Amino acid sequence: MTRLVTVKVTVLVGGVGGAKFLQGARERFGSTPFPEATGDPGEHSVTAVVNVGDDAWMHGVRICPDLDTCMYTLGGGIDPERGWGRAGETWHAKEELAAYGADPDWFGLGDRDLATHLIRTQMLAAGYPLTEVTAALCNRWRPGVRLLPASDTRHETHVVIADDDGDRAGDAAGDGIRKRAIHFEEWWVRYRADVPTFGFAQVGSGPDGTGRAEATPAVLSAIEEADVVFLAPSNPIVSVGAVLSVGGIRGALRRTSAKVVGVSPVIGGAPLRGMADRCLDVVGLETSAQAIGAHFGARSGNGLLDGWLVAEEDADTAVDGVPVAAVPLLMTTPTHTAAMIDAGLELVGLA
Ligand code: GDP
Ligand code: CA
Repeated sequence: MTRLVTVKVTVLVGGVGGAKFLQGARERFGSTPFPEATGDPGEHSVTAVVNVGDDAWMHGVRICPDLDTCMYTLGGGIDPERGWGRAGETWHAKEELAAYGADPDWFGLGDRDLATHLIRTQMLAAGYPLTEVTAALCNRWRPGVRLLPASDTRHETHVVIADDDGDRAGDAAGDGIRKRAIHFEEWWVRYRADVPTFGFAQVGSGPDGTGRAEATPAVLSAIEEADVVFLAPSNPIVSVGAVLSVGGIRGALRRTSAKVVGVSPVIGGAPLRGMADRCLDVVGLETSAQAIGAHFGARSGNGLLDGWLVAEEDADTAVDGVPVAAVPLLMTTPTHTAAMIDAGLELVGLA
């Protein structure tokens, strides 16, 4: 058994589930006392590698839903009921945009939130990479963990759906169904994931405008130099999955000497709050801790996991080559979540 004195923890996260998990990590390991993306992480430190698959341009501003959910939650600015966006929000800009008939009219763009997007968009236009923009925004919010976008270049999740108006992309698959691709946010927020859906695709490019998005050097070293990496109980397909599909991240997880521990977002066969089961359906996975654990796979095989934490309700879960522990997985308070993290450390022999 190795007892870690100083710990570098890296967590792959999405939005709401990821942010709650990070609150537990901050509770367990303490605040990371620097807001900058670069700089010495010090002793105990928590770094989050945040999904950028949901990022989108709307009304001329760049929106990064998962980065903002993590930043507002940890920085004390989140609306606690909605779980996203700013507390004390007003919606005047959204109403005015709607009065002009501006598209999209289904996106919740709050007035307070808009200030964040304006700053981000200005900095991006001035040539700052998203990693530095995020660090600058975190200078205000002081989240106490280092928030790193998984990539500095575009890596958006798009969703292939049936096209009922028939005049867009054709029947390329030859299955008699016309299809088109929409941004994940439109599928999730506007259509509530409730339209005939055929698959997800990452749309983006590398820094030179070609190829696919690559992980930043900061992300790669956060994974490679960590003592332990957690896959948060975030959506396994469009949050953790979208992070894993950024070039270089899977390789870094396979290479790192850190133990990699996954935490199930599904308890007793159902996701918490939300429609993660819709995403699992689309890729043909059952909504179960077993199926998600097997999907991530064992690091001793071709997969990623050294340990898989499941809920007590799912105690019969067995995943080939992966030690499994069943513990309470409801993130009701940061203290409860910190206990989950301890169970994860114990599972891989680090506590
Ligand atoms: P999003 O980007 O805002 O959709 O959030 P994430 O992808 O980070 O997290 C969504 C996932 O968090 C859902 O699939 C939920 O099942 C999971 N989740 C939310 N609350 C809890 C909880 O208390 N415990 C566990 N184990 N999972 C949770
Ligand atoms: Ca998200």
